[in-house]
Amino acid sequence: MSKFWSPAIRSLVPYTPGEQPKVLNLIKLNTNENPYPPAPAVVEALHQFSMDRLRLYPDPEASKLKSALAKYHQLDEAQVFLGNGSDEVLALAFMALFRHSDPLLMPETTYSFYEVYCDLLNIDAVRIPLNSSFEIDLDDYQRSNGGIIFANPNAPTGIAIPLSRIEQLLAANTDSVVLVDEAYVDFGADSAIALIHRYPNLLVTHTFSKSRSLAGMRIGAAFGHPDLIDGLERVKNSFNSYPLDMLAIEAATASIEDDAYFKETCQRIINTRQRTTQALQQKGFRVLPSSANFVFATHPEQDAKTLMQRLRDENILVRHFTKPSINQFLRISIGTDEEMDQLMNQL
Ligand SMILES: *Cc1c(COP(=O)(O)O)cnc(C)c1O
Repeated sequence: MSKFWSPAIRSLVPYTPGEQPKVLNLIKLNTNENPYPPAPAVVEALHQFSMDRLRLYPDPEASKLKSALAKYHQLDEAQVFLGNGSDEVLALAFMALFRHSDPLLMPETTYSFYEVYCDLLNIDAVRIPLNSSFEIDLDDYQRSNGGIIFANPNAPTGIAIPLSRIEQLLAANTDSVVLVDEAYVDFGADSAIALIHRYPNLLVTHTFSKSRSLAGMRIGAAFGHPDLIDGLERVKNSFNSYPLDMLAIEAATASIEDDAYFKETCQRIINTRQRTTQALQQKGFRVLPSSANFVFATHPEQDAKTLMQRLRDENILVRHFTKPSINQFLRISIGTDEEMDQLMNQL
């Protein structure tokens, strides 16, 4: 605390990311990174990059990537927004679209960055509990609001909502923006991108950090009606005109163009998730049905925090949350089959 801090900063509680340890040779199953390297086409694009170009500013629109993503999702470029990781895209969306007099609705248990943005930006939020099966029940979101946000699949539960249910919400909630954070959608849920043509209040966010193995480069995107995208661009261009550097633009474009590798690595993770779920169940764990690259599991007799600490002693990192409603769960990222076998041996 310093007297030089702005008043609003004094009470901020920042987001705590999962640990990024400096030591190597850990089995890192705590931040939902992809265990496989980026696509060979990404590596090739980075090798081909001419370093002389780095003295220039990057394209502020990142048009090359915008056009590749528009084509990939069968959209117009005017329906695509890009940012420095989806965390930044989300922050700009909160600024541009959620600062209204009615409260923002969000699940009580979800990606914890949402509440941090609300504190930072002074947005009033109503946090709606999950049902007894740890699912988001969208019936509970039909009340007056200044916006709705949830992750699908949700974090840290991994549970996905069917698209038909999201469409029902959109049809009933036409006066505020519904933001669907699809950070994990490529691991087995249906994307709501197809709905943006019919619902001008729908914004969908994606990240290159999980399914595209590019967490180290910070690339995120949003898809929605051109008016929503325009609102995001206004805030972006009032804050940082160059959120994506030249290397990130090249790497992300190459990733989109190597679809076979992308599909294959996603499928491998889905297969390993199924094996892991069965192996955990055989050890007596309850595992929530996951459509993501992690599982959320609890054991009826073993304390979750103790398990997390004892795994840590064996150089295996998993994530534990202290929030009372989920503090008997571990969130375990899906690594390679070999990594998951070592986890099972230690458990
Ligand atoms: C990982 C994650 C993000 C952030 O992704 P970045 O693009 O790495 O900033 C956003 N939302 C959810 C739900 C996530 O799990």
